[in-house]
Amino acid sequence: SAKTDGGASWRYYEPVMNDAVLRRIELETRLRDAIRSGALELHYQPIHALRDGLPLLGFEALVRWPQPDGTLLPPAQFIPLAESSAELIDTLGTWVCTTALHQLTLWRRDHPGLTLSVNLSARQFDRAGLADRMMAAVAANRGESDDGQAPLQGLEFEVTEGAMMRDPQRTHDELARLRAAGATIAIDDFGTGYSSLAYLKQLPIDRLKIDRTFVRDLDRDADDAAIVLAAVELAHRLGQAAVAEGVERPTQLHALRAMGCDAVQGYGLAQPMPARQVPAYLRGVAAGEHLRWLQPAGSP
Ligand code: C2E
Ligand code: MG
Ligand code: MG
Ligand code: MG
Repeated sequence: SAKTDGGASWRYYEPVMNDAVLRRIELETRLRDAIRSGALELHYQPIHALRDGLPLLGFEALVRWPQPDGTLLPPAQFIPLAESSAELIDTLGTWVCTTALHQLTLWRRDHPGLTLSVNLSARQFDRAGLADRMMAAVAANRGESDDGQAPLQGLEFEVTEGAMMRDPQRTHDELARLRAAGATIAIDDFGTGYSSLAYLKQLPIDRLKIDRTFVRDLDRDADDAAIVLAAVELAHRLGQAAVAEGVERPTQLHALRAMGCDAVQGYGLAQPMPARQVPAYLRGVAAGEHLRWLQPAGSP
């Protein structure tokens, strides 16, 4: 019978395993291997302060998965898969955190104030002890080097509204622990989730990142401009900094500046880049090259 003969039961179910399911299982196995073998890559997108000279504040780390054919799979195509397993998203999340912190430590030798933001999946809050797991991974990675600074100094964790909704008390406690270890907290994709504004007040949030969907047309759509201005003012009244995502045109940047927005990130300034390109970017910023984008074409 199927109960005593595993082979027979496998054959029985086999026709039900359609191609999509098999592809998914294969992809999950490959992703697991990729995380274990360090085959994933982080790319880094600059975040600049919206002050004179647009000084560089830091970067956001964005994960990519290099494929055998040389292409890079974007996170939208594998983060949801990783999220289907609490263990897999957790492994990915701690890898991102330790890798990012390692890079940041190198860059901060010459640029002490730089920050590095990493994205947390809402699902990483499902397992208790997120902050402890992050700190344990970081401690294991640092070895005995102890420079006396807080273990997560310079790191920022980006959390979406969805994470706030799952278990507000747990989220609050985990974020408070990460903050106590020197990290800062940003709410990501603000305005697109379903969270109550009450969470904004209860949670320990340092920065509010305004979602790209509102930034996209803010220089030509009065409704988007109204929403972005409201978000900037909300952030300020709560003692938070406002960051605009997805800035592609100088006119968006000028409008954001008039609204008092604190920082900008987007393809207009720079695309996410691999770590090896970051030193050249830092030199370019020191030489003011990032400001060229704002100058009208043809001007010296
Ligand atoms: P996000 O955290 O909101 O990241 C910003 C996304 O917008 C990135 O896409 C970035 O490349 C893109 N972007 C930045 N500037 C512009 C712009 O000017 N125009 C446009 N059209 N897009 C811009 P990416 O790298 O594909 O990441 C997508 C999402 O995947 C992220 O959204 C984040 O939610 C998630 N993600 C990325 N890395 C990680 C990670 O390490 N862990 C987790 N859990 N999620 C991650
Ligand atoms: Mg983000
Ligand atoms: Mg975002
Ligand atoms: Mg976004």
